[in-house]
Amino acid sequence: MTDAIDSTDKPTPRRKPKPEKTTIAGRELKPSTLMMGHGFDPVLSEGSLKPPIFLTSTFAFENAAAGKRHFEGITGKRPGGAEGLVYSRFNGPNQEILEDRLAIWDGAEDALSFSSGMTAITVLMLAYAAQGDVIVHSGPLYAASEGFVAKVMSKFGVTYVDFPAGATREELDAVMARADAQAKAQGGKVCMVYLESPGNPTNALVDVEAVRDARNAAFGEDGPPIAIDNTFLGPLWQRPLDQGADIVCYSLTKYVGGHSDLVAGSVSGAKKWMDPVRALRNTMGGIADPNTAWMLLRSLETVELRMDRAGQNAAKVCEFLAQHLKVEGLGYLGMITDARQQDIYDRHCKGAGSTFSVFIKGGEAECFRFLDNLTIAKLAVSLGGTETLASHPASMTHLSVPEGRRAELGIADNLVRISIGIEDADDLIADFDQALEAV
Ligand code: PLP
Repeated sequence: MTDAIDSTDKPTPRRKPKPEKTTIAGRELKPSTLMMGHGFDPVLSEGSLKPPIFLTSTFAFENAAAGKRHFEGITGKRPGGAEGLVYSRFNGPNQEILEDRLAIWDGAEDALSFSSGMTAITVLMLAYAAQGDVIVHSGPLYAASEGFVAKVMSKFGVTYVDFPAGATREELDAVMARADAQAKAQGGKVCMVYLESPGNPTNALVDVEAVRDARNAAFGEDGPPIAIDNTFLGPLWQRPLDQGADIVCYSLTKYVGGHSDLVAGSVSGAKKWMDPVRALRNTMGGIADPNTAWMLLRSLETVELRMDRAGQNAAKVCEFLAQHLKVEGLGYLGMITDARQQDIYDRHCKGAGSTFSVFIKGGEAECFRFLDNLTIAKLAVSLGGTETLASHPASMTHLSVPEGRRAELGIADNLVRISIGIEDADDLIADFDQALEAV
């Protein structure tokens, strides 16, 4: 019998040698600089300045030993995923360049791209949960995330304990203890602490530092990972890994994609947290397709410009709305009225974002009149695009949330959610003014 072929001797050439240089003369390059070329070498693609879109379902191995070595990565026999390109359900050049660049924004070691934000979130949860486990989560969550935990994970014996976004350290200690007792009673463990901050659509912030301290006190630093949906403020205005989160997830459909022309998601964090998620993505599929990954690379080149401008516009629009007689209040992070929320904001956020809620005096009928009279702002769900969007969460995105729960979470009938784009701020103010006149 001959010996098995050794797959360790010939490293496969990559698109670019890793780790790639991200400094010049000791200067750490900024993400906005790295978005133009990081992870891609034109020499390997006929000099093409931009990466081609690699439309292929599978990749040819240079020899059989390389194929074996790559599959050792895919199957987890070698940690850290495949060293080379294998099959488009597992990896691809466009997705790998995208993942390298996404990780830079979050200050993460590794990132994984998905075909939607919900694919990212659900694969993440499935990767960590087992029968009898408990997911601890903040509230409110995006309705589909909350529904997935409550209605889908429960089918597999996974339960949850939730807490309001602004919970204090003492309250969080009690939540961890309750979750631990619940898990033990079910014969499982607390498998994940899942946060959304700010929460959709109220903009309530979670104290990530307090959550980290409570997790460490209850379970130690090697306890359940803290994952956070950073869709509303990321990647520019909040970097939750700096506050002690372990995993960051996104709907890239929003600010990162930024043009309302694609649907995608991502998860980032240390390799040790990404490995189980990558393994499940390899099995289930759900990786972003090459065309979408390419579009996201295009989008990442301007994400800072777009978010900066949208943030400035939102500040001007909110200044106008705040003093309007038909406006009861605003859920805007630049005008927080609660001292605890302000303290969290000061410690966690670098900007107030451009998505906020406006409470119109009245109820659903008044909100509908306002929405129906907007001309520049489009009446559509979603956020983070170049164009301004407005919607009514209670009757649209959060309609599936039971009425009592909606009230508990502050998703009132007179709440309109607005995502400000990059139009001229004064034009937007004129539009909101005339629509409010019609109320
Ligand atoms: N997380 C948040 C905060 C969202 O607002 C959304 C979508 O609106 C999602 C996740 C889901 O993302 P996707 O629509 O890309 O699946």
